[in-house]
Amino acid sequence: MTNRFQVRDRFADGAQFIGGLPRQGTSGRTHAVVNPATGEEIHRYELAGAADVDAAVAAALAAFPGWAGATPGARSDALHRFAEVLAEQAADFAYAETLQCGKPIRLSTEFDVPGTVDNTVFFAGAARRLEGVSAGEYSGDHTSYVRREPIGVIGSIAPWNYPLQMAAWKILPAVAAGNTIVLKPAEITPFTSLMFAQAARRAGLPDGVINVVTGAGPDAGEHLVGHRDVVMTSFTGSTAVGRRVAEIATATVKRLHLELGGKAPFLVFDDADLEAAVHGAVAGSLINAGQDCTAATRAYVQRPLYDAFVSGVAALMETVRMGDPLDPETDLGPLITHSHRDRVAGFVDRARGHARVVTGGEAPGGELKEGAYYRPTLIVDAAQDSEIVQSEIFGPVLVVLPFDTDDEGIRLANDTPYGLAASAWSRDVYRAGRATREIKAGCVWVNDHIPIISEMPHGGYKASGFGKDMSVYSFEEYTQVKHVMYDNTAVARKDWHRTIFGDRC
Ligand code: NAD
Repeated sequence: MTNRFQVRDRFADGAQFIGGLPRQGTSGRTHAVVNPATGEEIHRYELAGAADVDAAVAAALAAFPGWAGATPGARSDALHRFAEVLAEQAADFAYAETLQCGKPIRLSTEFDVPGTVDNTVFFAGAARRLEGVSAGEYSGDHTSYVRREPIGVIGSIAPWNYPLQMAAWKILPAVAAGNTIVLKPAEITPFTSLMFAQAARRAGLPDGVINVVTGAGPDAGEHLVGHRDVVMTSFTGSTAVGRRVAEIATATVKRLHLELGGKAPFLVFDDADLEAAVHGAVAGSLINAGQDCTAATRAYVQRPLYDAFVSGVAALMETVRMGDPLDPETDLGPLITHSHRDRVAGFVDRARGHARVVTGGEAPGGELKEGAYYRPTLIVDAAQDSEIVQSEIFGPVLVVLPFDTDDEGIRLANDTPYGLAASAWSRDVYRAGRATREIKAGCVWVNDHIPIISEMPHGGYKASGFGKDMSVYSFEEYTQVKHVMYDNTAVARKDWHRTIFGDRC
């Protein structure tokens, strides 16, 4: 990396971005951002409290009329410039994302940052395609049409696993549609959300359109969700916190978009390309150290391929290189924190009593022992109703189970509370097609697992939430439709007035 900057200098003015300016938080509490690869403190900052949230919402409210009233073309131009600034700063973004998350620099450079730039370009274009769908004389005497309007100030809350992409997924459709926004990133990963807001300002987006408050969930987060000037809450995070957010948002009658946890099944039929499935399972379960809501977590493999699949995945997992996330040769970095690593280890340790760990199942020692690392882990012989199969682990852990009939495979794939993503592996178009229809998830891949694209929606079924990120479908969340109805008769005494006036009409 040639473009490193000193985090302490870059965020010396504070980890809040309100009304176009960096600010210190005023909660009276600080947070230390720790490098998960080393355990060293990178930066300490003042957390946002309720007063900072109030200031950010006020800035967003003040910016709303101007931004909502801008032409779609003007918003589109601003977002195109934004994409250019992001692309110019790509190396800085990748470095900061890797530093705070511990994700391999290859992932930040080849996935997180270009994905975000592409998303920005997509929404720059989509901003000009916002439209109402109908116009006509449905009553005979009136012309009706639908206006699609921005809603107001959006309050968004994001998780730590893909901080830059999550900021982009929340902010871009909201502002492309003419809303203004206050984003609360996870307090352990504030840097790239702040850089995203700074880049928007540099690109010329008006002050107050994008605000970032970095505070603790139960404190700044709940205040943002309950704020009376915030008209919509868009939350991405765990299902448990999503429930709490829903309670608060419902009490204040807000629009709600919830992107929650996942436990994606990976369904391998006996005619699948084994090599493709093995590679897909290892890459799909280890991406971002398994801290991906769509990661492959439960592989169901039809009996004839089961043994070969298990030995193939174990062998391939053992070739994965753990190391310094800033080293381009590193395949797998640490988990986000030491406590999260211990939580993942706890799931595996509790499974040992009734299942078998084929490979992994421990933290590496040696040079990596100070970091929050955990080895790629493969588990077999677990029961379908066991914790390791049912709960979201959010680590580099794959469980493999056998199945016999196609009916059974699809039933097992659907047998968790979650429904975010899934994949089906088969060379038979009819088998794969059946799986795409019958698996209850917001995304089903065929013969692949993980790729996402700006043009297509991302969002859950069941306990994985509701509403869509990315694509034009996200505009359904961030706009409201208004029916406008014009009288065409120019008649003072209308037929329907008989319901009031009777024959005196
Ligand atoms: P989390 O639920 O612990 O936290 C998410 C965000 O909510 C953070 O910003 C946190 O500070 C905030 N928060 C915590 N308590 C809060 C409260 N009481 N009120 C308001 N805000 C509160 O999740 P996490 O550990 O940061 O992220 C991992 C989770 O996110 C996983 O469950 C993962 O599946 C999910 N996720 C889902 C998607 C998706 O698109 N469905 C994408 C990424 C991550």
